[in-house]
Amino acid sequence: MTNPEVIHDPSELARRVSELKSQGKTIGLVPTMGALHYGHLSLAIAAKNDCDVAIVSVFVNPTQFAPNEDYDQYPRQLQADIDLLSQVDTDIVFAPSPEAMYPRGFVSNVHVGGVTTRLEGSFRPTHFDGVATVVMKLFQLSQANVAFFGQKDFQQVAVIRRMVADLNVPTEIIACPIVREADGLALSSRNKYLSAEERKTALVLSRSLGYAKELIHKGEREAAVVKAAVEKMILDEGGTAIDYVSISDPDSLQEMTRIAGNVVVLLAVRVGKTRLIDNMVIEPA
Ligand code: AMP
Repeated sequence: MTNPEVIHDPSELARRVSELKSQGKTIGLVPTMGALHYGHLSLAIAAKNDCDVAIVSVFVNPTQFAPNEDYDQYPRQLQADIDLLSQVDTDIVFAPSPEAMYPRGFVSNVHVGGVTTRLEGSFRPTHFDGVATVVMKLFQLSQANVAFFGQKDFQQVAVIRRMVADLNVPTEIIACPIVREADGLALSSRNKYLSAEERKTALVLSRSLGYAKELIHKGEREAAVVKAAVEKMILDEGGTAIDYVSISDPDSLQEMTRIAGNVVVLLAVRVGKTRLIDNMVIEPA
């Protein structure tokens, strides 16, 4: 267990990283918005295993929230996050202020087309511009050799991969599996918003993904049938509203009609006021 070095100033991070790079160290970056849980820690552990230096950024990025979303309410607990990261030997925690990341006069933006237009992008039209821009800034500041993302945000990984390929960013992208509670609920900082009752309701997300898998393994090949069954299970639970249920190609994220190869079933469901996402990649048996 080592206490990480905590850096708030972006130019200080850049300076520290060039020092480490000049010593030949490889850098692994884990971008997060804090309120860390074991899902985040699994990425920090992967960074530490694969690279000489693990950097975890903790930054609630204002530009990826729409005005009606939960930016103000989003949980912030930097000291607890630092304590958790010390347990997995993270070397550097980068925790900048919004003013430091977006100083007066900031007007630039990274826009990724194509894959951003569907699913999350259609419900949160400005979200991926905010994500791509902050991730590009973090890549520049950290000079990361490798960056680690969770498959929990499946579409986000596709967006970042596209950005890195299109803009020749020399950072390798690694996607890590979704970490779940024993009862199936995918870990999320937003689970903190759920009441005890809503938390029980929220289990329908992972349960319905399991049901989709069962149907596909039993031979169902019509995406519309699987989708309707998943939607019914979610709505029958009560206290839920569906933003989308999608059965997509895991590479292109295009909606499928026939299930031939691997598919990813993606969900965005509101449980009370809390919007949750989950997904599962399913191989036909
Ligand atoms: P966030 O703090 O929500 O922006 O998430 C930071 C990173 O942690 C993203 O790459 C997420 O996909 C990843 N992450 C969040 N929840 C999980 C989870 N349950 N399992 C694996 N990775 C996760």
